[in-house]
Amino acid sequence: MAGKTLLRTWLKTCLKTRLTGGKALTPAVVVACLTGLALTGNAAFAATRFAPPDYIGSLDPNLIWEILLGGFVVLSFLAAVVVWVVSAFRRVQRQQLRRDTFVSSAFNHLGQGVVILDADRRLLFCNERYLDIYGLKRSEIFKGITSTGLRELRSARGTLDAESVEFFAHPMPKGSFVATLPDARSVVVKVNPLPNGGFIGIHEECTEQRKLAQELESTKKFLEMVVDNIPVALIVQNVEDGRYLLANRGSEAVINRRREDITGLTTEDIFNAREAKLIVSRDQAAIHKRGMISEEHPISTEAGLRLFLTRRVTVLGDGGAPQYLIKTYEDVTDRRQTEARMAHMAYHDGLTDLPNRPAFMQALAQMIEACGNVAEEFAVLSIDVDGLKEINDVFGYAIGDKVLIEVGQRIQGAAGGGVVARLGGDEFGLIIDGKQPQGGRAIAERIAELLGHQFSIDGKSVRAGVTIGISLFPRDGTDAAALLANAGAALFRAKATSRGSISIFEPEMDQQLRDRRLLHQDLSAAIHNGELSLHYQPQARAGQTVVDDDITGFEALARWIHPSRGFVPPGEFIPLAEESGLIVEMGEWILRQACVEAASWPVPLQIAVNLSPAQFMHGDLVGLVHSILFDTGLQPGRLELEITEGVLIEDFERGLALLRRLKALGVRISMDDFGSGYSSLTYLQAFPFDKIKIDRAFVTNLGHNPQSAAIVRAVIGLGHGLDVSIVAEGVETQEQPSFLAKEGCDGVQGYFIGRPAPIGQYAGLIGRTPAVRDVERKAG
Ligand code: C2E
Ligand code: CA
Ligand code: CA
Repeated sequence: MAGKTLLRTWLKTCLKTRLTGGKALTPAVVVACLTGLALTGNAAFAATRFAPPDYIGSLDPNLIWEILLGGFVVLSFLAAVVVWVVSAFRRVQRQQLRRDTFVSSAFNHLGQGVVILDADRRLLFCNERYLDIYGLKRSEIFKGITSTGLRELRSARGTLDAESVEFFAHPMPKGSFVATLPDARSVVVKVNPLPNGGFIGIHEECTEQRKLAQELESTKKFLEMVVDNIPVALIVQNVEDGRYLLANRGSEAVINRRREDITGLTTEDIFNAREAKLIVSRDQAAIHKRGMISEEHPISTEAGLRLFLTRRVTVLGDGGAPQYLIKTYEDVTDRRQTEARMAHMAYHDGLTDLPNRPAFMQALAQMIEACGNVAEEFAVLSIDVDGLKEINDVFGYAIGDKVLIEVGQRIQGAAGGGVVARLGGDEFGLIIDGKQPQGGRAIAERIAELLGHQFSIDGKSVRAGVTIGISLFPRDGTDAAALLANAGAALFRAKATSRGSISIFEPEMDQQLRDRRLLHQDLSAAIHNGELSLHYQPQARAGQTVVDDDITGFEALARWIHPSRGFVPPGEFIPLAEESGLIVEMGEWILRQACVEAASWPVPLQIAVNLSPAQFMHGDLVGLVHSILFDTGLQPGRLELEITEGVLIEDFERGLALLRRLKALGVRISMDDFGSGYSSLTYLQAFPFDKIKIDRAFVTNLGHNPQSAAIVRAVIGLGHGLDVSIVAEGVETQEQPSFLAKEGCDGVQGYFIGRPAPIGQYAGLIGRTPAVRDVERKAG
């Protein structure tokens, strides 16, 4: 009966199961069946199982029914068990699948490529990123593919790198490396063994990071290189603990050790106690200031004690507190020495090492300030060395320089504590205090005497002299410029008086200088205003008598009739024109005028024109002469150019070259004022002059001075020896031409023959008016 009840229960349950259609009820079915089996008893089942078949017909139908029912129950139970097992298995499978799907989808979402191999290095798993990195397709990854197969695939895709090949050649690959793919991408590969003997590999592309890292590395290297090569020592310290963080190569002189060895050390570790204390206190001052502190101090280095310029800069941290201290040390020993030298040079003359003009002006200003308050006097001397040009010319500049040095020393010796300066080429200055003008004059005389003594330089005896101008404070000026200018005016007067003289400033000298300046202004307008003209002075063959027929030519001499001053002598305006360069324009006018004039003469006499050294230094003199000859049609052989040795003194090579080119034009070249200079003989040797004009001074003295006669005789002999014609200038008396003729002089010129005059006065000589006797002089 219990079986029936159970069956009903089971049926009901089954029905319920159907109704709810559920997998959820399967356990209930199983429980019902198990209960039914327990209650129906083993006997019924045993009878059903073990009763022979021929007994079946004799069995009680109830029993049969019960056996059937029992069998049915057992079968149902077994079916339920099978169903339960299968469904449990499926569930596990589904869960597994879900887990796999979850894991692989999780792996596929990773930024890194993941690949898992088994102990035989066969692929168990790889994620999408892995395929992506190496350009592989899921479809070509067949089951059981080995790591070698994977690499072959990558090789075919062009994504296999040498590093992987080398790494996986190892029997137990482990660790990490950076693979550089053929397309220049970089991948970090990390490989770890798994407990089952397999491997897991993590592949992460790092092209960008690597590029950045490389850039960073090169930037770091670049900065290190820059820091190392800046030409100052650089040290960076941590403010908090005072430890050194960085030092460049340049700092190794300062820290006396390799820069690599300095990191982490403190000042106390590097320097001795005394130095360290000093450095730390300076560091503290800079940190306290939070700005820059620079100072100079000596530091002992391997190269000895050197002067360093140190700068300390405090770098503030984010919180505003000092974080780093940057220190630079610059060795300024050489620079400071150069600066000192330059400062010295700026105020000293390089040759004599005496104070120069600016220094002299400063000293003068200080002297004025000092004496002005106490009503003291002092004198300013402007000292001009005579004969330096000639010394340079004869003995060379090296000797000339040594003479200047010696002159400076002699002036200093005489000055007795006064300020001595070299103001320019051969000009020295001196400030001397004491009672004036006696004080200044006494010193000037001492200097003149001392410089009058012969100089013995490099075994050569050299003579020089001085001309001195003096101005007095406060009488002649109360500022430095006025005092020096007035000493200069006195010097100018002294030079005009005679070389070697001493002159004290007088107010009218100032007036003369001012006049000169005014005259200069007027001179520049003179050419355009037609104030210039030419006078002509005849030159004749030397003889006992000089008649018209003896006239060989004329010397053109410039004349200036100033609108208000009247006649201004050439000795005054020619030097003015030379100083200002006006002579170039003026000389061109004179040359053209003289050539135009001479070309118009019916009698083709010579025309001599004076040239200034300045005309050789500026402009195209040869071109000018050539074009004037061409324009005027004057025969080149009729033109004679008179030059003084100044042309060759200024610039020997240039002067000589120009003279040669002029001569090549066919014009004649005369050496003027022969004997008045220093070195005319030297130049006679250098250039084949056509004519030598003996200076007036020798001719004038002929009657009075036996030496003059000897000199004139010697020059005439020299001329004959060199085949150069000799003309005597300044012939004023009857005796002179006959003496000169006797000695064999070729030509004469002077007032005795004819004074310089407008050409109209010599119209007969040049054939413009016939039958006029211009020149008739009979020698005595
Ligand atoms: P210089 O070339 O030696 O000219 C001769 C000077 O001696 C002229 O002076 C002339 O007037 C003067 N003289 C001629 N015969 C006698 C004489 O018997 N006794 C005396 N006491 N003097 C005589 P000037 O004309 O005053 O010229 C002076 C200097 O000016 C010239 O000396 C020359 O160096 C220069 N000079 C004159 N004209 C020119 C010129 O056109 N160009 C250049 N560059 N210099 C010129
Ligand atoms: Ca002359
Ligand atoms: Ca002359």
